[in-house]
Amino acid sequence: MPDIVLNWIGGEEFPALSGKYLEKLNPASGKILCRLARSEGEDIVRAVDVAKKAQPLWGEMPPVQRGMLLNDLAMGMKERREDIAGIVAIETGKSYKEAVGETDGAIALGLFYAGEGQRLYGRTTTSGVTNKYAMTVRQPIGVAGLIIAANTPIANVAWKIFPAMICGNAVILKAAEDTPATAWIVGAIAKEIGLPHGVLNIMQGLGEECGAPLVAHPDVGVVSFTGSTRVGRMIAEETGKRLARVSLELGGKNPLVVCDDADLDNAAKWVLLSAFSNAGQRCASASRVIIFEDIYEKFREQLISETDKLKVGSTDEDDFGPVINKSQLDNMLAVVDRAKKEGAIVLIGGDRMTDTDHIDGFYMAPTLIENVDMKDEISTTELFGPIACLYRARDFKQALDMANDSPYGLTACIHAKSIHRAIEFTQKVQTGVVVVNAGTYGSEPHMPFGGFKQSGNGTREPGTEALDIYSALKDIYVNIDPSKL
Ligand code: NAD
Repeated sequence: MPDIVLNWIGGEEFPALSGKYLEKLNPASGKILCRLARSEGEDIVRAVDVAKKAQPLWGEMPPVQRGMLLNDLAMGMKERREDIAGIVAIETGKSYKEAVGETDGAIALGLFYAGEGQRLYGRTTTSGVTNKYAMTVRQPIGVAGLIIAANTPIANVAWKIFPAMICGNAVILKAAEDTPATAWIVGAIAKEIGLPHGVLNIMQGLGEECGAPLVAHPDVGVVSFTGSTRVGRMIAEETGKRLARVSLELGGKNPLVVCDDADLDNAAKWVLLSAFSNAGQRCASASRVIIFEDIYEKFREQLISETDKLKVGSTDEDDFGPVINKSQLDNMLAVVDRAKKEGAIVLIGGDRMTDTDHIDGFYMAPTLIENVDMKDEISTTELFGPIACLYRARDFKQALDMANDSPYGLTACIHAKSIHRAIEFTQKVQTGVVVVNAGTYGSEPHMPFGGFKQSGNGTREPGTEALDIYSALKDIYVNIDPSKL
């Protein structure tokens, strides 16, 4: 873990031109962990210039060769797996065990896209005209501006940089200010394995100061963003002005429905994992648990009793750690307080943890709440913390209506033994991901993740679908023998 985290531009480390730094705190202890370059517009201009110069050679390199270099990068990450996981753990406060799992997922994703260098397919087809044939090819867009959240930092880095680079773009990644070193170490590995300089540039700084100028830069041809719906909307407006391509992976308020025929032990296990793992800091976390009336009381007591057993802390024996920073903690406490004033009942948790083991870190107790309406602030606002609300549903129809009664549409889950209920739910729920008898979260490198409604703008990452974001399709017609036309 470096004391000072700088920008990677053209394979070299640079402080911000202003010489300014930000402080990054350890979420488990509240103490300063490192300082990071506080980059601004002038730093972005410099990075875009470097990326623009590096891109043509990278874009002209056969995708198979680009794939080999990205394979080297993924293998470099594998060699440094413990170092990466150590940084992820200390920057986020999650356990080392969990950080290793996340790092392995990021490596798997890198290997998937490295392989795509051999499969960067277009189409060949027939033409309606004699002696002519038609095909499509994928071409790079140019410079890609990538902006990420801090919740699963190494996964977020990999989800953006690998698909953008395999398509032949030079990349400028704006790291999350809460996890600067996780992005930084990938830049260091890229240098070690000999990735051409300027293809992967990594910038540190705040969203408004460093992210916004990247989004607004006229030479950034594609912007891909993972973060809140609030910021996503601003990015859509800005990129819309110059009609730049944009991919938005945004927030969620994900329903998990527990039917009266569900295996309640399995359902309780998955409610807890979906609501609380990673301290609820998942776009796909379950924050709305919709329970059939007939089993509501029984299941509620089971959830309270299981939640009571959870261990909160940063070791491998704990179930989840702190949230990423104090402002996020304060924000969720304020929403819970307002809900209580409106009549919400806190069944367990509801507070910051202030015992001696937790007082210095940003720990929110696992929280279950009831007696709230689907239209209330707490039901419609993404809290991004270990908080879930419980709701009663009369029957399947009402549960489905409640699940769909949300401004978001990212993920959903149903617990039921009836195959009919399960299938009908997967067909009718308005989300981009739906799961039967497990959790609301979970994604795989080859599968397209993304949401309906305010959870995104309709794009999907990763999978081969992400190639559509980072490449431009070109139709090519070949007139084979003009004399025959
Ligand atoms: P955020 O939107 O505040 O910040 C995300 C990133 O955007 C950070 O790097 C930040 O510096 C940058 N940013 C902030 N303001 C900006 C601006 N004006 N211009 C450009 N960049 C700016 O989100 P957060 O609170 O850090 O992260 C949590 C959010 O991310 C949640 O809403 C969560 O659901 C979402 N998320 C979505 C997915 C997904 O795949 N859909 C995955 C992970 C997280």
